[in-house]
Amino acid sequence: MDNLGKFVIAIDGPAASGKSTVAAEIADQLDALMFDTGAVYRVLTLVALARGVSPDDEDELAELIDKIDIAITTPSVDDGRQYDVYIDDADVTWAIRDPEVDRAVSPVSVHARVRAGLLELQRKIGNSGQVVMPGRDVGTVVMPDADLKIWLDASLNERARRRRAELLERGIDLSVEEIRESMRQRDQRDASRSEAPMEPSPDAVVIQTDGREIEDVVKQILQLASLIPAIAEEGSPSS
Ligand code: C5P
Repeated sequence: MDNLGKFVIAIDGPAASGKSTVAAEIADQLDALMFDTGAVYRVLTLVALARGVSPDDEDELAELIDKIDIAITTPSVDDGRQYDVYIDDADVTWAIRDPEVDRAVSPVSVHARVRAGLLELQRKIGNSGQVVMPGRDVGTVVMPDADLKIWLDASLNERARRRRAELLERGIDLSVEEIRESMRQRDQRDASRSEAPMEPSPDAVVIQTDGREIEDVVKQILQLASLIPAIAEEGSPSS
């Protein structure tokens, strides 16, 4: 049976809800691959901005997908990154997190052809073994048969504060208000698009992270994950 030992944990939720941080920690503890689906949308957005392709031009964007070589690998530099992202061998790990990309990424992500074009890559990695996948539609569309689905949420204020702290660490100083407004618009676009809108899967476990420590949230998810057959078997003394 080729599903033996495989599992997928989907961790969806709005911007800066802590998905990537939590997913990286879970993946580390379970010795699994962390695949951040947002990174592929960010890569496409960065390339579109660099080549002057409008975020509204669905056809051009869809064609761009076939022209770029995206690689996401384990981190090679100890600078707080959770993974390396390369476009045609150029390290764009931090560039895809710039505020310009934040602003343009959800308009890019609304298009049906863009989503269809990036779906295959996401499913291929998702089906590759033991994978933790943060995103917006992983539990609903990309990996609807995921073994565990989490919807991670936090208030807009809390998320804006977290994003500000992250940006400050990289020397980018924006006000909380500015970040909150940009995030509010992004969430609204992500949740209201007709194609794969951001929404919790009905079978997702909803976790509110306001005021909670990351370790505490990770512990809760690991407990849920311990019920996944592939993980329970590994942990059992008879295996
Ligand atoms: O998670 P992150 O903030 O990196 O995602 C960036 C953007 O990529 C989201 O705002 C959304 O527009 C898009 N996205 C998506 N589906 C996913 C992951 C991200 O539409 N599964």
